[in-house]
Amino acid sequence: MKKIPYGRQNITDEDISAVVEVLKSDYLTQGPKIAEFEEDFAAYVGSKYAVAVSNGTAALHLNAMALGVKPGDKVITTPITFVASANCVRYCGGELIFADIDPDTYLLDINKVRELLEKDTDKEIKGIIPVNFAGRVVDMEAFRVLADEYGCWIIEDACHSPGGYFINSKGKKVRSGSGRYADLAIFSFHPVKHIAAGEGGMITTNDEELYKKILNLRTHGIQQDFSKRIYDDSLWYYEMQELGYNYRLTDIQAALGLSQLKRADEGLVRRKEIAATYYNYFKNKDYVKGQSKVIEGHAYHLYVIEVEQRKELHAYLRDLNIYAQIHYVPTHLMPYYRDFGWKEGDLPNAEAYYGRCISLPVFPTLTQEEQEFVIEKIDVFFKK
Ligand SMILES: *Cc1c(COP(=O)(O)O)cnc(C)c1O
Repeated sequence: MKKIPYGRQNITDEDISAVVEVLKSDYLTQGPKIAEFEEDFAAYVGSKYAVAVSNGTAALHLNAMALGVKPGDKVITTPITFVASANCVRYCGGELIFADIDPDTYLLDINKVRELLEKDTDKEIKGIIPVNFAGRVVDMEAFRVLADEYGCWIIEDACHSPGGYFINSKGKKVRSGSGRYADLAIFSFHPVKHIAAGEGGMITTNDEELYKKILNLRTHGIQQDFSKRIYDDSLWYYEMQELGYNYRLTDIQAALGLSQLKRADEGLVRRKEIAATYYNYFKNKDYVKGQSKVIEGHAYHLYVIEVEQRKELHAYLRDLNIYAQIHYVPTHLMPYYRDFGWKEGDLPNAEAYYGRCISLPVFPTLTQEEQEFVIEKIDVFFKK
C-alpha cells in the first residue's frame, strides 16, 4: 500500500489552469484574483467582509493587533490547537490563559472560561479565542453571551472548519466564520487544510471598522482609504499611519484558493462519509475510549480516536505506511509556555486526551479501499 497521510491536498487540472492563467497575466500579486477570492470566500461563509493574507498565523496576528492586544492584557484559549492560536497574543505582548477542554467535544469548555472570567476582578482578560478543533464548530452564540457579559472580544479560529456550522438557539445553521457572533474569524490555506493555496489565510468579519484597520495593517499600515490621508492627496502619494506588515497573499495563490473553493462542498460531503464509516466501525470497539462524533455541521478536518496504547499504535501504523498524526501536543506544555509557569497537571482533560488521541486519515481523495485498510490494521493491532 502506498503512503496514506492523515490529510492531503487534491490538485486538479482545473486548479493548475487557474494558476497558469495568473502567471500569464499582468498581476502576480495585488491583482484581481485577490478581490475575487475575498468576495467568493465571504459569500461561502456568509460574512460581510473578507481579507486574504499570507497565512493563518498572519491572520491571527493582524486580528490581535486590530483588537488592540497589548502587554498586560490576558486572553483565553484552548491548549488543544496548533500553537499559532495562542502565539498571536504573544506577538502583541499579551499573556495567555489556557482553559481546559470538554472531554466529550474536545473543544474549549465554556464553563471553565466562565470560571476564569468570574475570578478576573481586575478585568485583565480582554478576549477569548475558541477553536473549531477537528472541524467541530463551537457554539459561538453561547460564547458571545458570555463575552458580552465581561466586555471581551472573540476571535474564532476556524482553520479546521470552512463550510462547517453549528445550530443556534433559534434552530438556525450558523456557518463558521460568518461573523454573526465572533468579532473576527480566521482560516488557513495550508495544503493540509480543506482549501489549499500553498500558503494562505483569510480573515472574515462583519465589523467594518475592524475590516478597514486590517486592510491597512496587511500592507505596512499604509492607509488604503485615500480620503483618510492626512498630509497630501497627490496621485503618487502614500501614507503610512501605523506600523503594519507585508502579509499579502499573491494572485497565484488566490487563483488556486478560488479554484479549490469551488469544490469545497464536495470535499465536505466526502469527509462526512469517511467520518461516518469510522464512527460506525469504532463505536462498538472496547479499545476505543472516545472518538469524534457524528454531528451535523462538523467539517471533519480531523477524525480522532482515543486509545490506551496510542504510542504503539502510531508506530505500528507508520510501519504500514499509514501516517496517522497526533493533534495536538498541548500548547501549555510547550517549553516556551512552561517558561510562563504552565506545567503538567494544570489542564487534566487536555492532558488525558493528549495521552490517548490519534488522528486517522481523512481527506476527500482517500479511497474506500484505503480506509478499509486503515480500519483493518487498527483492529489487527488490538487483537494481537
Ligand atoms: C493551520 C492552523 C493555524 C495556522 O495556519 P497557517 O496558515 O499554517 O499559519 C492556526 N490555527 C489552527 C487551528 C490551524 O490548524
